[in-house]
Amino acid sequence: MAVPLQGPYLASVVSLVPYVQSPGVYVLSRDGRAAHYVGRSDTCLAARVAASIQARRYTHFWFAFQSSPMQAFLAECELYHDYSPADNSNHPAAPIGAQWRCPSLACAWGAVWR
Ligand SMILES: [Zn+2]
Repeated sequence: MAVPLQGPYLASVVSLVPYVQSPGVYVLSRDGRAAHYVGRSDTCLAARVAASIQARRYTHFWFAFQSSPMQAFLAECELYHDYSPADNSNHPAAPIGAQWRCPSLACAWGAVWR
């Protein structure tokens, strides 16, 4: 099941993402078509997307608020496996202490809770 995202939006309008204290996920692109990077925030999506765009040269982004940090982690895992983004060198990590596992059946990060 694909994660519903809003976008693509131009990187130049990232300041228009509602600045609320909400977890969420995002996808960054260098061409507005391919997903080059996926990420999440457990606390403030807008701040994280803006910082992530500035850190590297991305031209477009998609985003989706999530109801909890765990939902954000699960959505990030889905995006990671759906797109295999070139700029993500590591599988999404759960926060320290959380026992959450990747929802993908084929993924080693999902093995423990099944
Ligand atoms: Zn996984």
